[in-house]
Amino acid sequence: MADAGRKLAEVFLRLRDGEVAPGVRTIDLDRKIESWIKGMGCVPSFKGYHGFPASACISINEEVVHGIPGNRRIEEGDIVGIDIGLIIPEGWHSDSAETFLVGEVDSEVQELCRTTQAGLQAGIEAAVAGNRIADIGRAVEAKAREKGFGVVEQLVGHGIGTSLHEDPQVPNFESMTMPNPKLEVGMVIAIEPMFNLGTKEIITLPDEWTVVTADGKPSAHYEHTVAITADGPRILTAR
Ligand code: MG
Ligand code: MG
Repeated sequence: MADAGRKLAEVFLRLRDGEVAPGVRTIDLDRKIESWIKGMGCVPSFKGYHGFPASACISINEEVVHGIPGNRRIEEGDIVGIDIGLIIPEGWHSDSAETFLVGEVDSEVQELCRTTQAGLQAGIEAAVAGNRIADIGRAVEAKAREKGFGVVEQLVGHGIGTSLHEDPQVPNFESMTMPNPKLEVGMVIAIEPMFNLGTKEIITLPDEWTVVTADGKPSAHYEHTVAITADGPRILTAR
């Protein structure tokens, strides 16, 4: 799984090299991402997943997650969430997301992105053997509350291994209803906070994939695949 994580980190490092820029169509980004993944001998896990038509989910501004790449062009001032999963030949999955800031972004939106990253970091630090799943959610949520941002509740992180989505679910808030297993050495989970500038409420568009904020305000998303080891959390998708 470390190998799967390293390869996915490499895809993001290539994206960081100026690829997410004004004028670029999201479909062209998706094609590059797919070719990089295949060039590494890996399989893009999102393509065909429940019929998803692309290798990356690309979600701009008020789009929270699951945006479908297409002819839309990235613009100056956009925030662009890119979520990618891959499978190495041995069958192991990795899953990671990052929100790219394009040129001059509004300061409150910059703050949203910084805070979501801080939420992810806090969640990772709580991913320690002996803690429970709810400890992660509590740590993530606290970062959003400090700034008054909405925490998306209907979409959550997850276990990951030989499948993209495995138990347990990893909510970004302290859930009173979801299973709350103890974290054990050897577990691997994807932690993926989604923070909204405004309301936590979301809507799925008629394309049945794209999730947007109910109030149309921006949303940020960051995700790492994290292994729980005897030495603490290990970020397998670290850049
Ligand atoms: Mg993901
Ligand atoms: Mg995920």
